[in-house]
Amino acid sequence: MLSGSNTHSINSFSSKRKGSDEGDTSQSGGSSGKRNFVRSWTKDFPWLEYDGEKMRCKPCCSRTTKSDSSSVFVTGSTNFKIESIRSHEKSNGHNRAVAAIKVEENPHLAPLPRVLSTMSQDVAQKLERLFDIAYFVA
Ligand SMILES: [Zn+2]
Repeated sequence: MLSGSNTHSINSFSSKRKGSDEGDTSQSGGSSGKRNFVRSWTKDFPWLEYDGEKMRCKPCCSRTTKSDSSSVFVTGSTNFKIESIRSHEKSNGHNRAVAAIKVEENPHLAPLPRVLSTMSQDVAQKLERLFDIAYFVA
């Protein structure tokens, strides 16, 4: 059941809201004023994190040994420009951090460490010596 009075109140409400048309200048060049963080950036850049004040890079913050720990995306950036986000995504430190996390999440993707083959050789030698000792003891 639809009530006519209800529809009417919604219409008057929306027409009232249309009156205030300020503050939405994100599409213009933006030559003046401060920039704000754009929420949709976190969809385009899943590594991006915003705490309400500064934006950071999640992988770079959690893997500072791989990333550039002095980067503004680790310390927190208020430079809300898509250009700075894009350039960070291409940076060496960022890619190292992302790659390190990928390998940790999917260990089978990592190339087999060479240590493994040399280790088994070492173990084989030790086993041989063990057999020798066992022979003498027996
Ligand atoms: Zn990063």
